[in-house]
Amino acid sequence: MARSLRRHASLCGLASGGARGASDAESNFLVASKLFDLHAALAASDGGAAFIAASDLKAFANFGAVGLSPIAADAAPVAVAAALSGSAAPFHEKLTPALEAMRAEIFCAAAGALIELEKGARKKRVVVLGGGFCGAIVAHELTRGDSQGIDTEEFAVTLVDTKEFFEFTPSVLRLMADEKAEEKGMWKKSAIEFEKIMGGKGELIIGSAAAVRRDHVLLGTAAGVASRMVPFDYLVICTGSSYQSNIKTEGTSIEARKRSFALERERIKTAPAINVVGSGLVATELAFDLKAFFPEKPIEMITRSLGFLPRIPGANERVAPLASTHGIKINLGAEVMHVDEQGRASTRSGDAKGLPNARSFWATGYQPNSAFLADARTESIISGMLDSAGYVRTIETCQLDHADLGHIFAGGDICHAGAFTVGERTMNAAIKHGFTIVKNLLKLVGMREGKMKKPLAHFTPGSEFLAVSLGNTNGLLYATDPNTASLFSTKAALEAERGPLKDAGIKGWMELNPAVDYIKFVMIPSAVYNYLVNNDYTSMDQFYGKEQAYLTIDVV
Ligand SMILES: Cc1cc2nc3c(=O)[nH]c(=O)nc-3n(C[C@H](O)[C@H](O)[C@H](O)COP(=O)(O)OP(=O)(O)OC[C@H]3O[C@@H](n4cnc5c(N)ncnc54)[C@H](O)[C@@H]3O)c2cc1C
Repeated sequence: MARSLRRHASLCGLASGGARGASDAESNFLVASKLFDLHAALAASDGGAAFIAASDLKAFANFGAVGLSPIAADAAPVAVAAALSGSAAPFHEKLTPALEAMRAEIFCAAAGALIELEKGARKKRVVVLGGGFCGAIVAHELTRGDSQGIDTEEFAVTLVDTKEFFEFTPSVLRLMADEKAEEKGMWKKSAIEFEKIMGGKGELIIGSAAAVRRDHVLLGTAAGVASRMVPFDYLVICTGSSYQSNIKTEGTSIEARKRSFALERERIKTAPAINVVGSGLVATELAFDLKAFFPEKPIEMITRSLGFLPRIPGANERVAPLASTHGIKINLGAEVMHVDEQGRASTRSGDAKGLPNARSFWATGYQPNSAFLADARTESIISGMLDSAGYVRTIETCQLDHADLGHIFAGGDICHAGAFTVGERTMNAAIKHGFTIVKNLLKLVGMREGKMKKPLAHFTPGSEFLAVSLGNTNGLLYATDPNTASLFSTKAALEAERGPLKDAGIKGWMELNPAVDYIKFVMIPSAVYNYLVNNDYTSMDQFYGKEQAYLTIDVV
């Protein structure tokens, strides 16, 4: 419900005050909800939760430009609640239009979802749930892929996402840490309105999937509320995954995202230290980036793993010495359960790890965004496709793993582990899934000849590429994909040590390489931007071959 209210607030703000109005409305919502969290935590004597809510409120009061009086940085949660005791009412009042809109939606949902059977009835109706890498590619190809031989006039495409823009996820930590990201042009390439991706064609619905039936989806502003029913001939499920902390956003607008990162930088500047929970790809990049842009801050990582990047064989040996040189401390084998009242990480064994009063980031295990598939209104044949962890079971063609569900595809992070070559769920895999889905959809509607396709990720270790940023002066390159060999600076040595990349197996090639900064934050986002916005396939062709020949192969 809270997410629904936030989205309604943003949409009401957008209608009355444009992008700034949407961003202001999201800030109002966040202040109101944090005030609620603080009072609830104090009432429940939950010191850790009160610490977190009070820290968030201090940040809004001191840097958020939301009209609250400043609060001392070291004020305890009770003092924060006292300082803000008269502030709740105006913020609740500002949420009135959003509450009205939400109430109207719930009434509408109770009366039965609005049915849209006529829309695009003579065209092939394709609904895409989620516009990350996978969904953005499917939506782009089916609305603007004419140069690829796709008759886009044959499709009525509806893209549903909880926000108005595609986010180039690998850049988000840098967008947060580097205050010069805007002037470097990173925002333009990393946050792209869906309208631009679909070139004004198709339909964009800002909302959330609530449930899926065999021939229609139920949508609302948040999971749980279904006020709208959209029929489909083909469905593509690619709602991805979420992290704790503000890594993938629950917000709606680009403006609100920028503002939340500006606020975050102010918080980091004034925090005495930083704790990062986790040591996977996101946690590692986060710790190194924060050290690069806030060099004076002590940083501690706390992880239950035994090293950095545990899913990438051999990575820890290269990253650990670098972390130590940079002064990043890592606590290994410590499973964090919650934050204590001093803001430290409280572990399963009862120890307190990390630095007190630090700004803490949780970058541990992501979760699939699949709650709507487990909703009681989702048909059981479809909810039966979820594995025990909530990921979607697909076959190699990216169709759901049931003979009667061949018209429903899934791609990207939402998919079960078998859809990925190594343990990491990656952008690279989501892109492969996206193009595979397009090719197979074209085959099903009779627009393409030949066999069904599968992404090279399946059963083919030679298809991975990862660029892990380690601050702004170094990074780790890891690949098993022979097409990426030219990016390695120590090619000859790697070939001598591990053999040609095509034969190196899962160990692949790996090196520390300062060019990662350029590859990850300039070269790849530019290629994706040119493709999605300018409809320019040049770089995509270089990476993935003409007509994505390196990405997909025939199913035998
Ligand atoms: C910080 C960071 C760095 C990374 N770096 C790399 C890297 O260098 N290389 C690499 O290969 N991978 C990297 N990854 C992983 C990569 O970003 C993901 O694998 C990729 O984003 C997955 O794409 P996706 O299309 O599956 O979904 P996502 O990117 O997760 O997008 C899902 C979309 O669905 C929407 N959505 C969610 N729920 C709903 C709902 N109920 N209804 C409607 N819409 C919904 C979301 O708003 C979102 O737009 C990184 C990830 C992070 C977080």
